[in-house]
Amino acid sequence: MDIFPISLKLQQQPCLIVGGGHIAYRKALLLQKSGAKISVISPEIEAQLLEIVEKSSGQYIQAHFEDHDLKLNDYRLVIAATDQPLVNQQVFEECENLNVLVNSVDDPPHCRFMVPAIVDRSPLVISIASNGTSPVLSRQIRTQLETVIPHGIGTLAKISGEWRQRVKQKIENPDERRIFWEELYAGPFKERVFNNNLAEAEKIIHQSLIEWNKPKGEVYLVGAGPGDPELLTLKALRLMQQADVVIYDRLVSGAIMELCRRDAEKIYVGKARSNHAVPQEGINALLVKYANEGKRVCRLKGGDPFIFGRGGEEIQELYEAGISFQVVPGITAASGCSAYAGIPLTHRDYAQSVRFLTGHLKEGSPELPWNELVYEHQTLVLYMGLVGLEKICEKLIQHGQRADMPVALISKGTTPEQKVVVGTLADIASKVLENQIQAPTLTIIGEVVKLREQLKWQDEL
Ligand code: SAH
Repeated sequence: MDIFPISLKLQQQPCLIVGGGHIAYRKALLLQKSGAKISVISPEIEAQLLEIVEKSSGQYIQAHFEDHDLKLNDYRLVIAATDQPLVNQQVFEECENLNVLVNSVDDPPHCRFMVPAIVDRSPLVISIASNGTSPVLSRQIRTQLETVIPHGIGTLAKISGEWRQRVKQKIENPDERRIFWEELYAGPFKERVFNNNLAEAEKIIHQSLIEWNKPKGEVYLVGAGPGDPELLTLKALRLMQQADVVIYDRLVSGAIMELCRRDAEKIYVGKARSNHAVPQEGINALLVKYANEGKRVCRLKGGDPFIFGRGGEEIQELYEAGISFQVVPGITAASGCSAYAGIPLTHRDYAQSVRFLTGHLKEGSPELPWNELVYEHQTLVLYMGLVGLEKICEKLIQHGQRADMPVALISKGTTPEQKVVVGTLADIASKVLENQIQAPTLTIIGEVVKLREQLKWQDEL
């Protein structure tokens, strides 16, 4: 992040605009909305701008900036809005020397702060900034937000502000307080505000506060999908954003973690192969501990929690401890990787069934029902199979599978680093070695792999 967003309180604060034309006027309009005391320095001034200056009890200084004897650090901020790039640059340099916040309109290199695009639902104000890279994009996002954010949301924020102190007095614990507000906003209160039925809304908030009880903790076992954040389900996203604690493992991508509630406690229990950051029993115990403290815990797992995810074991423990839970399925690696690699897992001409297997080695050798795996017209999908790949291919050939059966190995599927290596049972292991493939990888074995030639739609590294 190259910029730090803040919201400035400018009521009655002296601000200076350099320039008296239309650009200056547009900036003055915005400053006026926030109650600033606006002064302008310029040899000439538009009538509308002068009116704003006077209304805000600022000062019009009729002079060229170059000749000024102003004390720039008397101002909270300065906006350079002349049509002379050199003058704007001079304003910038003088302000920088004095540590005064400065903006040069449409000139990002000469800005210490940028003015974002805004959606104004005062007291709620949403700002969108692009660090000067694309104001048009920011404005487009603003337009989208304008259409989806109800106008009553400002009133909602105002009433919430009026009750904030009382809620704080009654509910001391900040986590509990957050749950109070979230539950309040999820119920009829919000609708009453939006319909301007404010007396009724006040009654609801009053009653909810009287009846408030300490919440019970619960656990959401959530599938985060294979990597691409856009493959999350709506439910996963909602629960990720309301959880107080997120317990996640290695397969959950950074981009997905970014979507969790910012102030949630995030606990990494990652599992690299046979190197568990927190052993399974420890994870189960963590879930129980936090839920018993009344927290809403999101147990976030790669793919689908019930497919090679040990999700079942985790919720069994919750069941025994009497903790309520919900399970949210995710897109499993087989679905995600096959789709993004252009390999349909079934196809009327090539495969009528598909089988998910784990290639995880036990005592150095995978234990799989080899005879059942060599049927024609069956696609095999191998999870956790990178280390044992060579052995698995050998075994399949020994049990009668064709050595030229197509195989695809997908690394980091659905992410921007997705890589696909295609070969046959006979040569895939050596091709993988040549290509320096990184975990996680998924292997697809079957005739369907050939379809990739036609159906590949993703560009890869
Ligand atoms: N519950 C998960 C699987 C957990 S087992 C799911 O439903 O997808 C971990 C294995 O999943 C990895 O060893 C790898 O085989 C596979 N996997 C998960 N994400 C993957 C990805 N983005 N690309 C390739 N393989 C992946």
